[in-house]
Amino acid sequence: MVDIKKLKELLKDEPSYRLRQAEKAIYKDFVSDWSIVTTLPLRLRDKLQDELTLGIPGKFFPSGKEDAVKALITLDDGFSVETVLMRYKDNRNTVCVSSQIGCQLNCLFCRTGKLGFKRNLTSEEIIDQVLFFSRYLKGRDNFITNIVFMGMGEPFLNYENVIGAIRILNDKNKFNIGARRISISTSGIPDKIKMLAKEELQINLAVSLNAPDDEIRSRLMSVNKIYPIKGVLDSVKFYTEKTRRRVMFEYLMINNLNDCTSHAKELSKLIKGMLCFVNLIPYNRDPDCKNNDLKPSTKERISEFKEILRTSGITVTERFRFGRDVRAACGQLAYEKKL
Ligand code: SAH
Ligand code: SF4
Repeated sequence: MVDIKKLKELLKDEPSYRLRQAEKAIYKDFVSDWSIVTTLPLRLRDKLQDELTLGIPGKFFPSGKEDAVKALITLDDGFSVETVLMRYKDNRNTVCVSSQIGCQLNCLFCRTGKLGFKRNLTSEEIIDQVLFFSRYLKGRDNFITNIVFMGMGEPFLNYENVIGAIRILNDKNKFNIGARRISISTSGIPDKIKMLAKEELQINLAVSLNAPDDEIRSRLMSVNKIYPIKGVLDSVKFYTEKTRRRVMFEYLMINNLNDCTSHAKELSKLIKGMLCFVNLIPYNRDPDCKNNDLKPSTKERISEFKEILRTSGITVTERFRFGRDVRAACGQLAYEKKL
């Protein structure tokens, strides 16, 4: 891990511009070796080389089908987390970062949830995922344009560290990724949605709705038993009124479970008039998953569903699937512990 607290400690007796130079080397030049940071005097380069690693141990798994790469990054305590780079044809390079090792919420459809929860990631461990791909893209004369917190874990159950990481990503002197290019996806924790509304950050909020009523949603997402739909939608209304920013409702398309005409009509009624749009996500089946018999919706069902939302005046998009061949798609990320 690139330990910024330690960097500050090591440079505490130096003039403050030394820290700025070192941070520029890390966050703007994406160096992985202090010896090439010639803005620093040799004495400091040597000290940092000896005492502060810039190495981020990890492996790449490129998709053979889409322009996506999964990375497995090893943390200091032996856990590995997955993160994904998606390269779009319009030159966007989006990194999907993880915020926790595993997830406590155990949604029926999600592989991460099946693995259980180990711990929160620190802001630095979240940032390392972005650094890892920044270095990869630098070697290809390219750079990261967008960040989505849609990897492993529930970002709002690790709120402080996620916001801390976002401030570093957004900082002009660090990654300088515009807030409007950063998105958080949550399973819907109302008090944290309201807290985000007050942060005065121009980031995008996505809420995993996945069902038009509490009965179906609780079956899919046990978190709905604690925070049912009404409270989630009330907090989203508070958010949109305060920020004037459009919220994305993510909606997983599962065959015969939540993808019927009646569901589309119910969903339209539920969110009508809200400052929002719906992003339909074709369900990715986990090849190992034996404890559910969920199947993805057919293309026809997805088209019909879209059409009903559209005629009700709701904007709707469909998510492109990236990297299923390397298990990098939504809901397929995992972690490991090497002893
Ligand atoms: N915990 C957060 C963020 C990570 S999940 C959340 O739940 O929003 C990011 C998105 O992936 C969510 O919208 C979730 O509904 C979706 N997802 C989870 N498992 C999936 C699967 N098997 N197929 C497709 N999308 C899935
Ligand atoms: Fe956790 Fe999100 Fe997966 Fe649900 S979908 S188990 S909240 S990571």
